[in-house]
Amino acid sequence: MKPKVERCDVAVAGAGAAGIVAALAAACGGARVVLIEAGARVGGIAIQGLHRFVCGLFRNGGARPGEPLHGSATMEFCRRLAGGDPEQLAVRRGRVWLLPFAGGEALAACAEAEIAGCKNIQLITGDPVVRAERAGNGLTEIGLASGLVIQPAWAIDCTGSAALCRMAGAQVDWPERPAMAGYGFEVAAADESKDGPLGLALTVPYLLRQAADAGRIAPHLAYATWEPAGKTGQGWIKLALPAAAVSHAREQADLVWSVLKEAPPFAQARILRHVPTPLARETGHLRGEYVLTESDVLSARDFPDAVVRNAWPIERWEEDQGVSYRYLPAGQAHGIPLRCLRPQGGPGNWLCAGAAISAEPAAAASLRVMGVCMALGEAAARHCLAPA
Ligand SMILES: Cc1cc2nc3c(=O)[nH]c(=O)nc-3n(C[C@H](O)[C@H](O)[C@H](O)COP(=O)(O)OP(=O)(O)OC[C@H]3O[C@@H](n4cnc5c(N)ncnc54)[C@H](O)[C@@H]3O)c2cc1C
Repeated sequence: MKPKVERCDVAVAGAGAAGIVAALAAACGGARVVLIEAGARVGGIAIQGLHRFVCGLFRNGGARPGEPLHGSATMEFCRRLAGGDPEQLAVRRGRVWLLPFAGGEALAACAEAEIAGCKNIQLITGDPVVRAERAGNGLTEIGLASGLVIQPAWAIDCTGSAALCRMAGAQVDWPERPAMAGYGFEVAAADESKDGPLGLALTVPYLLRQAADAGRIAPHLAYATWEPAGKTGQGWIKLALPAAAVSHAREQADLVWSVLKEAPPFAQARILRHVPTPLARETGHLRGEYVLTESDVLSARDFPDAVVRNAWPIERWEEDQGVSYRYLPAGQAHGIPLRCLRPQGGPGNWLCAGAAISAEPAAAASLRVMGVCMALGEAAARHCLAPA
C-alpha cells in the first residue's frame, strides 16, 4: 500500500516550548503547518510537573523587568499562559526575572487551546518522526512511525535533542559530562505553620545536608529543594541526579522522603505524585554553522545575524557543586546568530530551534530555558516565512 503523503509549508518536529511557538508563529504568518509530537500531549519536558516559571524573557537586574527580549509570538503565548501582562506579572529572584505560571497541566492546556484556535496548524500527537530524507542540503521528506509521510517546504527540528537533524545526517554532539537531570515528587499537607513557605525552602536543604554529612544519603541528594506549589502545605521536592543515579531515580526519591518524614513539618505530609521519568537537562546539540561559546554569552556578544537575544545566566548543574550561576553584566544580552540554528553544508530548508541548537555546553546552559527556546522557535518560523 502506498504511504499517505501530506504537503505543508512548515513541518515542526517536537511540540515542547520551542515547537509550540514555532508552529503558532508560522501559522500566524499564513503558513500551512504540521506540528508533529511523539508524546500524547504538547508541552515537552515542561509539563512533567517541575516547571512553574518561564525563565529567559527579560534582562537581569533593575527595579522592574523592563522590555521583554523576545518577539510577539513568544510574548503573546506567555501572556496567555500567565493570564496577564508578563511585564506586570514577572517576579524577581535574586538578579533575574521570572514569569510564574500554574504548572504543567496549565501549559499543556494553554498550548492545546492556542493550537486548536489556529486552523492552519495540523497537530499530530503520539506519532514520532522516525526518518528524514535529503537531496543535497534540502530536506525532502519526513517519515512518521505510523507510516505517514510529510513533504514540507521547510522543517524545524524542535525535538529538544536535534533528533530530526540527526536523522537527516547532520552532526550532533553529546556532552561528555551532562548536567544533572531533574526529578522530584509533589507533597501535600506539609506543616508550614512555624516557618512559612520560605522556611521549608531553607529547612529541606538543611535536613538533607545533615543526612548527607551523616552518610545516610548520597551527597548530590543534599541539593534537593522545596518549591511551593501554590496551595498551603503543598510543594515539590526537586532532586538533581547525576548520570549514574538516573536509572534509580525512584529509590533516591524514597531515601529523601524517609529523611524528611522524620522532621516535624513532614510528619503528616503525603506524596501526591512523582515526575514520570527523570528529565534530562542536556542531550544532543546540533553542530551548526556556528557554535555559540561561553565567552559569547558572558561578554554579551552581538552578531550581525542575531535572531534571538538572551540574558539568562549560565546555569550549571554539576554533581560536585549543585547549581551555580554565572551572570551577564546587568542590563545586557547576547545575540544568538541564525548560524546556530542552521546545519552545516550551506543554506537548506531546515533549521534547529530550542534547547538543542549549536552551542558549547556552557553556552547551552544559558539558553536552554523556556523563554529562550520559545524565542528560538519563533525566530526559526520567521526565517522560514521570509522571502528568499
Ligand atoms: C528539571 C528541569 C527543570 C527546568 N526548569 C525550568 C524552569 O523552571 N523554567 C524554564 O524556563 N526552564 C526550565 N528548564 C529548561 C526547559 O524546560 C527546557 O530546556 C525547555 O523547555 C526545552 O524546550 P524544547 O522545546 O527545546 O524541548 P522539549 O521540551 O524537550 O520538547 C521537545 C519535544 O519534542 C518531542 N520529540 C522528541 N523526539 C521527537 C520525535 N522524533 N518526533 C516527534 N517529537 C519528538 C518530545 O516528546 C518533546 O515534546 C528545566 C529543565 C529541566 C530538565
